[in-house]
Amino acid sequence: MTSEATILSTPIEYLTGISAQKGDLLRKELNIHTFKDLLEHYPFRHIDRTNVDQIGSLSPSAEYAYVGGKLLSLELMGENRGRRLVGKLKDQSGVIELVWFQGINWVQKILQPGQQYLVFGKLSFFMGTPQVAHPDIENYTKENSSGKQHLEPVYPTTEKLKAKSLSGNAFGKLVKELFQRIQEKDLPENLPKEILEKYKLVSRYQAFSQIHLPASEKHYQHALRRLKFEELFFAQLRMNLVRIQRHRFSRGVVFDKVGPLFNSFYKDYLSFELTNAQKRVLKEIRKDAGSGRQMNRLLQGDVGSGKTMVALLSMLIAADNGFQSVLMAPTEILAQQHYQSISSALQELPVNVKILTGSTKGKARKAILQQVADGEVQILIGTHAVIEDKVAFQNLGFAVVDEQHKFGVAQRAQLWKKNDIPPHVLVMTATPIPRTLALTAYGDLDYSVMDELPPGRQPINTIHRNETARPQVMDFIKEEVAKGRQAYIIYPLIEESSKLDYENLMKGFEEVKSFFPEPKYWISMVHGKQPIEQKETNMQRFVTGDTQIMVSTTVIEVGVNVPNASVMVIESAEKFGLSQLHQLRGRVGRGADKSYCILLTGRKVSNDARERLKIMVATNDGFDIAEKDLELRGPGEIEGTRQSGALNFRLASLVNDKQMLEAARETVEALLEKDPDISLAENLPVKNFLHQHKAKTKWSKIA
Ligand code: ADP
Ligand code: MG
Repeated sequence: MTSEATILSTPIEYLTGISAQKGDLLRKELNIHTFKDLLEHYPFRHIDRTNVDQIGSLSPSAEYAYVGGKLLSLELMGENRGRRLVGKLKDQSGVIELVWFQGINWVQKILQPGQQYLVFGKLSFFMGTPQVAHPDIENYTKENSSGKQHLEPVYPTTEKLKAKSLSGNAFGKLVKELFQRIQEKDLPENLPKEILEKYKLVSRYQAFSQIHLPASEKHYQHALRRLKFEELFFAQLRMNLVRIQRHRFSRGVVFDKVGPLFNSFYKDYLSFELTNAQKRVLKEIRKDAGSGRQMNRLLQGDVGSGKTMVALLSMLIAADNGFQSVLMAPTEILAQQHYQSISSALQELPVNVKILTGSTKGKARKAILQQVADGEVQILIGTHAVIEDKVAFQNLGFAVVDEQHKFGVAQRAQLWKKNDIPPHVLVMTATPIPRTLALTAYGDLDYSVMDELPPGRQPINTIHRNETARPQVMDFIKEEVAKGRQAYIIYPLIEESSKLDYENLMKGFEEVKSFFPEPKYWISMVHGKQPIEQKETNMQRFVTGDTQIMVSTTVIEVGVNVPNASVMVIESAEKFGLSQLHQLRGRVGRGADKSYCILLTGRKVSNDARERLKIMVATNDGFDIAEKDLELRGPGEIEGTRQSGALNFRLASLVNDKQMLEAARETVEALLEKDPDISLAENLPVKNFLHQHKAKTKWSKIA
């Protein structure tokens, strides 16, 4: 073990000033177990005590006073609850009042009128006189007369710790104590010299000492920059290493040819030209799948970019190579839809496609399971039912996870166990997340982007209207229906169980019915509480054009594809998040007709919601929206990103430090390009650090 591991892993009680009781509390309250944890408990701000102020020049706008002088008097004043101890401290320029309401006896014992003291605390003015209540006090000596050597750190703490005299300021003493114990060699450099020089980064030891006890604001900024860079660098390096390791060591099934199924589908049945983005991604998949290693690929594509076709073509290649495929969708409706569109796209091609969901029961289920086990089913489509333990494949070679964020990590991990050699995995996102975020959060995955929509799509016209305009909106739908189009009207369902939301939906349904009376119009309604068959029937009637209007909750949010629909009305649009609004809007604009998205809101709309609506009106681009969403909400809230681990930075922010993130990523890529094993002498600091700080999480099997 190195010295770093020894001294920094010392239990926190070994630090002077920390009793067993305080140690316990630090563990419980702040998760501080060791010296290292304390070192990484960063101050959230600093107070400048590097200069002693003149009392006479204290200004009412100053937050703190830091003054030194002679204590003239110390007197008890007031009675009962007004009882207080008042001291007067004088320097050459003026007098300041010091006030205590508690601990009076103790203060009286400690302080002697006539002595010199240095005083620090929150400044207030009372009838023109400067005043500090409960100040920090120390003897005024020659050594400290010119102020502190560094800014005073203030730390996050808790009420319980404060009660044990570990206030935000008191931590500073502990940290000073800590720096008595650790030396430069205990915090060895972990970045190569070249990188330090290129980005003008201070040394690691410098950074740690200056982030806690900076000599000046500038020193603090340098320390912060260095540590943020380090954080971003190692997070990305680890992810990339996992990917490299996987590429090197994970065996994958080999699809080495493109056979008759793919070829005849491509030549004779595909009714459109693939977009360049689709072709590119398909090439990437083929390259991976032919390489002998396991593919673990994230496909990001905007709503309507044609991800399903990429999945289908890949599954045909799998079938051509004698492997089975599985396509998982997050909902029954989506699974059904994929099943239907894939079956009809394949026409009379000899491919055995089956669907398996929670509602596949009895004999039918048994028969399908048998065919899957025998290898007769080439493409199995379904919900998470397809990854249950009972579903055994003969030779699963390819797995597609559609609309990825609805699946849990554990569910996805199940996939890996479905074959001796794990199948290739293609994860397709429902809504794009920003590139920078994707590359950080999913740096261990192979990554593809489809940033192109099929040709001929017209941008969707998005409009924000007040609810009072509902009659006009309904008239507009009538016009579209008269042209043969269809429309969605969506109601928010914030909580599946919320009675109020359902009441609103039903009320809305009745209202819509009054605008669109039968038998001239027919309406489908779909919501989460319906039995599955009813949902299916209603959905199906809309898909086939039997009904012109679909009233629904967000159950139709992802994936539903009815190209004839041209109007999307979203009621109470202020209640939806950006990615959800974008997803819903993506239900229209799927055909060649001009489409519209109308966002209805009440009169009271919060600023945040107004901002979201503005963004929706301004752009149709899912990647743009994802960037904006990240800015508005921060990375933790973005759907489809990992909750913990990769994005959990202590100092860096994926929103505010985007440039640095980019720089760190480029640095990592360049380093690995040149030295994939991290074995060159110049990279020894990196290697040592990685060795000492082994990541606890294995990311490689997550997608
Ligand atoms: P998403 O990426 O949102 O899952 P889909 O796969 O549902 O999108 O595709 C949306 C629609 O676009 C479907 O009707 C599909 O048939 C059609 N489509 C896919 N690729 C193309 C293409 N290259 N040219 C024209 N239409 C396409
Ligand atoms: Mg889709």
